[in-house]
Amino acid sequence: MNEARIFLQDLNGTFLCPGHDIHLSVLRLDAIDPVISGNKWFKLKLNLAAAKKLGYQNLVTFGGAYSNHLIATAAAAKKFGFQSAGIVRGWHGAAQETPTLKACREYGMTLHFVSREDYARKTNPDFQQQILAQQTGPAFIIPEGGQNEWGRKGAGDIARFIPANTTHICVSVGSGATFAGLRNALPEHQALIGFAPFRQGNLMTQELKPLITSEAPLTITGAYHFGGFAKLNEMLKEFMQHAEKEAALPLDRVYTAKMFWGIRDLIAKGFFPPGSRIVGIHTGGLQGNGST
Ligand SMILES: *Cc1c(COP(=O)(O)O)cnc(C)c1O
Repeated sequence: MNEARIFLQDLNGTFLCPGHDIHLSVLRLDAIDPVISGNKWFKLKLNLAAAKKLGYQNLVTFGGAYSNHLIATAAAAKKFGFQSAGIVRGWHGAAQETPTLKACREYGMTLHFVSREDYARKTNPDFQQQILAQQTGPAFIIPEGGQNEWGRKGAGDIARFIPANTTHICVSVGSGATFAGLRNALPEHQALIGFAPFRQGNLMTQELKPLITSEAPLTITGAYHFGGFAKLNEMLKEFMQHAEKEAALPLDRVYTAKMFWGIRDLIAKGFFPPGSRIVGIHTGGLQGNGST
């Protein structure tokens, strides 16, 4: 992972931002690495440092069969000399291995499949201890999505790449670790707008509130979910093709395509005042396009 590869791409004059008195650019975190990509590297880096400092050789984390976090953890573990195990939600990934899970195994990650009911207990300390005792042995636990203090703090580091004159920053929301870390790191006068690509995404505001120290208003829209998490339609597919061809912007189908659709829609509706300078964060995830 090379943070020096991160760049800002100007989207003014493209179909995403045509002829408004608004400046739009995209922060290409996806350029860090094809697999340990986007925000995943930022959420992992302090977790890996903490695991090392505490003397752990094994990492355990949690994710679904298409999880960008799982594959990023598997690749990072291999790169930095850790053993890794993944606790995978549901049995379908065991019956029919996804490209993401196959790649995880090839990076040396041991996979443990659990029922959806058990997986729902993923943050319960008793459940976690049971997994360590019965399945993986002693290990440093990284929660699903890297959603812990180290994950959020590392994500806050993304703020370094955002120009000081930016008025609005847009970011996709999954676990919300990136949103929370960024909100805590950004100056309060800069607006941070979260885009949750799943149903009832607006409830994330309440969920994340306790993790946020900033006094700035918390803004997360759930309007651009396209039917639910990882669901997409022809319109979104065409939008992705358009973004790649006409704006040289490859987007992932789960998160960033829905966010940029939303940004374009909000620009068209006049949500951003004239003179706004918007940065959309490309959080990566392109590996997932091949696997759903
Ligand atoms: C994981 C992921 C997110 C969500 O990040 P959280 O910190 O879990 O909210 C957003 N975009 C992409 C491309 C991702 O892979």
